[in-house]
Amino acid sequence: MVKAIVGANWGDEGKGKITDMLAETSDVVIRFQGGANAGHTIINDYGRFALHILPSGSFYPHVTNIIGNGVALDIKKLVAELKSITDQGVPAPNLIVSERAQLLMPYHVLQDGYEEERLAGRAFGSTKSGIAPFYSDKYAKTGIQVCDLFDEERLRQRLNAAVERKNVMFKHLYHKPLLDADTLFVELMEYRELIRPYVGDAVTFVHEALKAGKTILLEGQLGSMKDPDLGIFPMTTSSHTLAGFGTVGACVPPTAIEDVITVTKAYSSCVGSKTEPFVSELLGAEGDELRRRGGDKGEFGATTGRPRRVGWFDAVATKYGCMVQGATQVALTCLDVLGYLDEIKVVTGYEIDGEVTTIFPTPSRLERAKPVFTTLKGWKSDIRGITDYDALPDNAKGYVDFLEQQIEAPITLVSTGPKRHEMTYRTPKL
Ligand code: GDP
Repeated sequence: MVKAIVGANWGDEGKGKITDMLAETSDVVIRFQGGANAGHTIINDYGRFALHILPSGSFYPHVTNIIGNGVALDIKKLVAELKSITDQGVPAPNLIVSERAQLLMPYHVLQDGYEEERLAGRAFGSTKSGIAPFYSDKYAKTGIQVCDLFDEERLRQRLNAAVERKNVMFKHLYHKPLLDADTLFVELMEYRELIRPYVGDAVTFVHEALKAGKTILLEGQLGSMKDPDLGIFPMTTSSHTLAGFGTVGACVPPTAIEDVITVTKAYSSCVGSKTEPFVSELLGAEGDELRRRGGDKGEFGATTGRPRRVGWFDAVATKYGCMVQGATQVALTCLDVLGYLDEIKVVTGYEIDGEVTTIFPTPSRLERAKPVFTTLKGWKSDIRGITDYDALPDNAKGYVDFLEQQIEAPITLVSTGPKRHEMTYRTPKL
């Protein structure tokens, strides 16, 4: 059976922790979309890690980790990440890189940076890791698959065609140095040797695993708001962040996904451009305090170190985020962070053009949305590390009950700290 672990919001919901925890009792963990442009923080017996491209099952010898065909594969970053975790004492993970995955090329990174430079103040706040150019090339059918590395003639042809197109853009749009296909070819041959031990037929592996009754986790990157179709376009990412895309990016049958564990934080955070609509944002000293107290080391990007924007829990966005994921259950993380507050606000409506709605609007209307708040009492105590849900203060449980009613999806896991077992299990009331 397949369980997906995906985000309801803007990313950074704590999916890494939940995946790491559930991987303990699973057989396979698959990354099915995105690339090394966001980080999953995991704290376990080996230390603290921010995984960018390796699946979060990488710390267990019994788990097979797969980089699925839907991922933007940056080989250099993958190899560096493998080295960094083994240098910290983690046994080399079992890893299969799908031969159908496409390569994130050095020119994708260049193009991403050039485009942000060209857009200047109108930029999207890209992490400049090449993700948008990568997916544009994939769908324009000029990408290069891992399997192409093992067919030199085909690789040369594809590379020449890609470089020809890129150079027109680099010369005339960006006024930057041109690419040389021969140099890139040599570089790709080096990559091929680095990746060779891991390349495999992930599609057959996954289907065989399902036949054998194995448990497979799909590990999503970012969250519903960042989906190019159903999110806050164009302030989205370039791959689908929804569990449903696992049927493509990890090649699991749609009918095999039985559980969609949708992760959301007890407050909101969002990285990206300042121009991105973020209705529940908390600014000034209050925002600074939440940012400082958030997550395990404050709300700063795991990949970029950028301060994340923070805000109150947004029930309008999260209800929608859970709905489009098809949430079967919700994991609420970082409840412990809010223990310092006398009162906690929740965004329970958006006011748009004088009307209040609880239905998440289209991107053009979202820009005009103003938050409507409901205020709840805080619990004013440290709940970090509590593992018995019933032992939580009444106001903390009341807060969770309220969020569940608002988002209309069953909250089953309530996380009380960043470590693997800092978790409570709740019987939903829906
Ligand atoms: P992901 O990309 O969805 O895996 O999320 P990130 O790792 O980018 O961000 C989540 C942050 O919250 C990390 O710093 C985690 O260590 C931290 N975290 C996860 N769950 C909890 C929790 O229950 N409490 C606290 N205080 N931190 C948590």
